[in-house]
Amino acid sequence: MKAEIMGIGTELLMGELTDTNSSWIASRLPALGIELQWVSIIGDDLPRLTEAFKQGMERSDIIFTTGGLGPTQDDLTREAIAAAFGETPIIQQEVVEDLERYFAARGGPMPQHNIKQANLIPSARFVPNHNGTAPGWWAEREGKIIICMPGPPGENQSMWEEQVEPQLAGLIEDEVTITRNIKTMGMSEGAVDEIVSEFFGVENPYLGIYSKADGIHLRVIARAKDTTTAHNMIAPVEKAIHERLGEYVWGYDDDTPEQAAGKSLMEKGLSVAVMEMCTGGALANNITDNPNSISYFKGGNVAYDGAALRSCGVPGEVMEKHGVVSQETANAMAEAVRRQLNADVGIAVTGVPGPGEFEGKPLGLAYICISNGEKIREMEMRLPPRRVTIKRRVPNQALIELRRLVEGTS
Ligand code: AMP
Ligand code: MG
Repeated sequence: MKAEIMGIGTELLMGELTDTNSSWIASRLPALGIELQWVSIIGDDLPRLTEAFKQGMERSDIIFTTGGLGPTQDDLTREAIAAAFGETPIIQQEVVEDLERYFAARGGPMPQHNIKQANLIPSARFVPNHNGTAPGWWAEREGKIIICMPGPPGENQSMWEEQVEPQLAGLIEDEVTITRNIKTMGMSEGAVDEIVSEFFGVENPYLGIYSKADGIHLRVIARAKDTTTAHNMIAPVEKAIHERLGEYVWGYDDDTPEQAAGKSLMEKGLSVAVMEMCTGGALANNITDNPNSISYFKGGNVAYDGAALRSCGVPGEVMEKHGVVSQETANAMAEAVRRQLNADVGIAVTGVPGPGEFEGKPLGLAYICISNGEKIREMEMRLPPRRVTIKRRVPNQALIELRRLVEGTS
C-alpha cells in the first residue's frame, strides 16, 4: 500500500512551525506494512490544497493529513477534499450538538465559526476527537483513502493510537516491519561496531548503529509477513547484542534516560536530589520531564560559581584543594545535596561549559557523582567544546549512571 503524508498550514511553509506530525506518522507506518512515498507541506490555500488532493489520489493509495481542521477561515482541509471529490459538505446536526456540549462543559457558548467542524461529505465519516473540537475525517473513494487529523500533536497522536491505527491494521495484509531499538552508553561507536560486526551487511533483519546524545543505539529492523515472524527474526540478534553488550544497555525503543532512571527509582522506592554546576538546570529539567518525577524528585541547586556551591553546603576546602571542576568537588556536591534535601540519592555534575577554559581546565571537561551515602559512582567526561552538547550529554550520562547505581549494575 503506497502512502503519502501532507502537513497542512501556511505557518509550516513560513518556517515558523516544524512539521513534526509528518515524521511522527511516518515512524508508525512501517510496522503496518504501509510504504510511505511522499511527504509534502501545503499552505492554507484552497486551489493548491484541492490540486494536492487530486494529485495524491492518483499516485497514492492512502493519504494522511494533519492540520487545517480548525474553526478559522484559513482551515480548509475539509473544503479542499469536497472540491477534489466534487461533493458538497453538509452540516451534521449531531456533531453541532457535540460541539455545543464541548463548549458548555468549558463554561461558554460555541462560537459560530466552529459550526464548520460539523461539516461532512457523503464519501467521508468522522473520526471522533476526544481531546479537542476538531473531529477527524476518514474519506474513501475509488479504493483510495484520505485520513485527516487535527494539527495539535496531542490530538492527532491519541486519535492515531485509539482509532486510526486499529482500523488500518484491519485493512492491511502486506508485509510488516518491526523495529527494536537497543540503547547503550559507555562504549564508543567504533567498539560497539566491532563487537556486532557480523550482523552488518545483512538486509533482513537489518542492523543499524547510530550515535546519539544518550549513547550508541543499535536498531534492528525486520520485515516479514506478520509481526510474530518479524519478532522471531529480531530475537536472535537482540540476544547476541545482549550477551556481548548487556552491561552497557540502559533502555529500549522510546525509552529516555529520565524514564529509565525514574522507573528504577520508583521500583526501589528511592528519592533523588541534584546539584548542578555546568548544566544550568538541564538535569533537573530532564528529570521533571517524567510525569512520575513528583514521586521521587526532591529538588536541587543550580550553582554557577564556587561561592554559590559553598552556600549550598559544599566545603570550601575541597574546592580550594581540587578546584570547582573536579571529581572530589562533584562527590562533595552529591553528598551535600543528598543530606540537605534528605534524599536517598544525590546527583552532582560540575564542569567547564565555556566560553573558555576555567581553573586551567579545558572547555568540555565534566565530572559526575551519584551517591547514596554508602556507594558512589564517579565519572569524568571529556566532551566536544560546545555548550549545547555539554548541556545535553552531561544530564543524560548522569541519569544513566543514576540508574546503574540504583540497579546495582556495573
Ligand atoms: P490547525 O489544525 O491547522 O489549526 O493546527 C493547529 C495547531 O497544530 C498549530 O498551531 C500547531 O501548533 C499544530 N500543528 C499543525 N500542524 C502541525 C505539524 N505538521 N507539525 C506539528 N504541529 C502542527
Ligand atoms: Mg492551520
